[in-house]
Amino acid sequence: MPKKRVFQLAKEMGLQSQALIAALDRLGVKDMTPASAIDEDTAKTLQELLAEQVAKLKATEAAEAAAAAKAAEAAAKPAAATEAPARRGRPAQKPAEAPAAPAPEAAATPTAGSPAEKREKEAEPERVLPRRASYFDQEMLRLERQLGLLAQEVDKETRPEIERTSIRDVVTRPEGERTTSGVENPPVVTVLGHVDHGKTTLLDFIRKTNVTGGEEGGITQHIGASEVEHNGKSIVFLDTPGHEAFTQLRARGAQVTDIAVLVVAANDGVMPQTIEALNHAKVAKVPIIVAINKIDLPDSDPEVVKRQLLEHGLVPEEWGGDTIFVNVSAVRGDGVNDLLDMILLVAEMREIWADPEGDFTGFVIEAQLDTSRGPLTTILTRNGTLKIGDILICGSAYGKVRQIRDWLGRSLKEIGPGRPVEVVAFNEVPEPGALVERVKNVKDARRMAETRSDEVAIIDRQRMARRRVEGAYAELTDGQHKVLRAVIKADVWGSAEALRDAILRLAAGSEELEVNVIHLGVGDVTESDISLAQATEATVIAFRVGVAQAAKQMAADEHVQIRSYEIIYDALEHIRLELEGMLSSIYREDKIGRAQVVQVFRARGFGAVAGCRIMEGKLQSGARVVVTRGRDIVYKGTLDSLKHFDRDVQTLDAPNECGVGVRNWDNWQSNDMIEASIVTEIRPTLRPAEADTRA
Ligand code: GDP
Repeated sequence: MPKKRVFQLAKEMGLQSQALIAALDRLGVKDMTPASAIDEDTAKTLQELLAEQVAKLKATEAAEAAAAAKAAEAAAKPAAATEAPARRGRPAQKPAEAPAAPAPEAAATPTAGSPAEKREKEAEPERVLPRRASYFDQEMLRLERQLGLLAQEVDKETRPEIERTSIRDVVTRPEGERTTSGVENPPVVTVLGHVDHGKTTLLDFIRKTNVTGGEEGGITQHIGASEVEHNGKSIVFLDTPGHEAFTQLRARGAQVTDIAVLVVAANDGVMPQTIEALNHAKVAKVPIIVAINKIDLPDSDPEVVKRQLLEHGLVPEEWGGDTIFVNVSAVRGDGVNDLLDMILLVAEMREIWADPEGDFTGFVIEAQLDTSRGPLTTILTRNGTLKIGDILICGSAYGKVRQIRDWLGRSLKEIGPGRPVEVVAFNEVPEPGALVERVKNVKDARRMAETRSDEVAIIDRQRMARRRVEGAYAELTDGQHKVLRAVIKADVWGSAEALRDAILRLAAGSEELEVNVIHLGVGDVTESDISLAQATEATVIAFRVGVAQAAKQMAADEHVQIRSYEIIYDALEHIRLELEGMLSSIYREDKIGRAQVVQVFRARGFGAVAGCRIMEGKLQSGARVVVTRGRDIVYKGTLDSLKHFDRDVQTLDAPNECGVGVRNWDNWQSNDMIEASIVTEIRPTLRPAEADTRA
């Protein structure tokens, strides 16, 4: 059956690939990348489903907007100043018109029976029931929001350069159809994997054998990135940055990498850092190519690696999945050409392009202070063309470009998009991941830099602390769905998995909750865990493990929560309570009694008091009351004063007579009916999770 790649489908549907991936994820189709293949039938169903949901959502929104407009119109009528709140999405009940014009039915004494029942329905008081949108509705909302944000981003791009004093969050290449002046751009590749599995050796081999212009002797400097040529096309490799650096660049908003190569040594198999790397790449939603390394060794077994990775959701193409696996030997060079072929293939599907004639943007890959040359900055150019003499601004750093060198140390006069270069330009050392932009002159640059140095501090702090301040545990994604994201570290795999499963079971008890375990690992909490948690706004759960000192410091700086537990029961109870705290209350309403107004008295300081006969049940001070006149609701609110003869009382049963007063309303008339009810807040609870015996 013919297959379609996710990015193609997204394009057809007018969505960003990532938005479609998010939607697929919600539908239970996990771990998709833009390059993932879906068969055409599924693609068609999906298109229909999404179109239907978007239409439904739009219709609901339109209906709600119309209802709200009608309600607003009704409320604007001067005589309608009474308190008659309508339920959400429902037009306001007919408000109390002039009191002198009672409805004809008002004269009839209502008795308990069918008319009263009817009234009861109409008089249904406002209730604060949580409106539960379906999973899909929420996803669509999110998609729309995402699209909206992208639109804003584009909007910012088109504004004149000088207006951009504030810092943009995301560094993107141009999206969508390539413009006429647009050119294909080399993919940016990061090599990740467990220590000693051969990342450095692989990169070195690739560099030595594929340098542009055959200048293999020229690799003398390390600027944090390199550019190689394969089959006439360029590929940019970032120096193995370590997983946390990879995620930190992302956390600062820079989607740096187009493709992640996950190196796994065939003689060693999947190790903790392999999984960590995999999770970092998944979080970044970067396509993964697996390089099974060291196949030259006699004890290597690539099949074992494939089976191990299968458990982590990477299914090889030959087994029906869409993860590309390549067997390589980084020392001998076996398979390296295949690997580069695959990188170019995945890149081709991502349609990476930029416009050399467009606005210049780039971001910082690495920066350091050189004693003789001043701040040296490696920039990955993203769009436009950078020239000697340009004025750049990056965060609060700025300056004129005095020197441009490629990764082989060759001096350049100008450089197009998609290339790593080292520049001498800035007055201070910029931060990795920061956006670099071009401005017209030094004066503007200085002015912007000054504004920015304050902004940088504020924005950085805000971004890091975002939302975590309020509910450390909960993140309200769209006001309805509550997500707990967790990075779980434990002493042994058994307890890590047991803890994860128990937390998932806890959350399964409520439709409202979603638990997303970003990373599951064994061993002490490290800086890598913290950066992962920080980038995904997750909480770190440390079970019977320590927290490295540096990780503690980083967690404090980045406002990442670490919860440490020694006993599984404690962990689960605590998490259960936290999850319960995230749930919305449900409100139950119980009718407690009915009374009829017999006579209306004017009382000093209290407007009017209704002399009533309690017909059924009881009245209670503080109860919710709905007053009806014939078929109309004339008042909804709280019973503020209840008197028996001259005494204030809390409750009074039928068939007593009493005086009833409410604040802010005194339009009582004889024969008005009062329905009283009590609203009780019910806090949802989750069933305690049974502690797994494995832990
Ligand atoms: P890194 O920590 O992932 O960067 O790993 P390195 O590149 O430093 O490699 C660790 C060790 O494995 C070194 O001693 C390399 O020589 C060795 N190594 C790397 N790739 C291969 C390979 O394909 N075959 C063999 N036999 N050894 C390799």
